[in-house]
Amino acid sequence: MTAWLSVDTDDEIHLPSKRGHPHRSSMSMPTWHTENYRASTRLLNATDRFIEWVRDGPKVTVFLIAEQLDCPEFTQRLDQLLAMPNILIACHGWGHRCWSAWPEDVAGFSEMLAAARDRISVYAGSSWRPWFRAPGGYVASWMAGPLAAAGFRLDSSVNPSRWVNRKMGGDWSQVQQSMEQCGLIERPWLTTGIGPACGPALSLFPFSLFANRAWRNHSDSITSDPTTEDSIALYWHLLDHGRKSGRWEPPLARIQ
Ligand SMILES: [Zn+2]
Repeated sequence: MTAWLSVDTDDEIHLPSKRGHPHRSSMSMPTWHTENYRASTRLLNATDRFIEWVRDGPKVTVFLIAEQLDCPEFTQRLDQLLAMPNILIACHGWGHRCWSAWPEDVAGFSEMLAAARDRISVYAGSSWRPWFRAPGGYVASWMAGPLAAAGFRLDSSVNPSRWVNRKMGGDWSQVQQSMEQCGLIERPWLTTGIGPACGPALSLFPFSLFANRAWRNHSDSITSDPTTEDSIALYWHLLDHGRKSGRWEPPLARIQ
């Protein structure tokens, strides 16, 4: 199957241990909206490494957190990405709230989606795609309706692994079904026999052993349009590019 590559722009502050989760976070987050975001030096440096790697490289969709446009230093790097023909921009929420970990909130989620969509799409222009990834992978069936109503065409939040069923209210297939019923295309993440293979699993032992091999086996052919081609989502984080003293790169097949 074809691979669709995407990268999430999470900063250190967006870890659920810091913010966005009702039980796991050390900082409060009363609403979806936060103000005056400034990127960490770690994220800025990792983004510079990503820019070097992706220039003249494979087609990648960047899932952006809307509040990050508050930060001039980060936006200046996004400008460089936006100028590249192989980069598309999609939506990773406004302030990285883990929506399905909180009580169902259709009104709040809808308001956030519209604001994030408007801010990111105006910024990205023709590189914008109405595609969504739920912060922290926290997705639930009730989120499908608001996504469709806000004009989103694709969701890529489902991690079809037995390790994360808890986040999906016990059954990720229900989420997938709701997305499809609301007219959204669902593009689940690549998994392996032992569990997740995307995001943190790329560097988390023992998942990393299997994940790196699975990525190489699934990235012979890469698409930039997961809405027309049946494809599997391979995603990582911008911050990953700071690993190995800035020499880290996604474990893709040699031929692309
Ligand atoms: Zn994230």
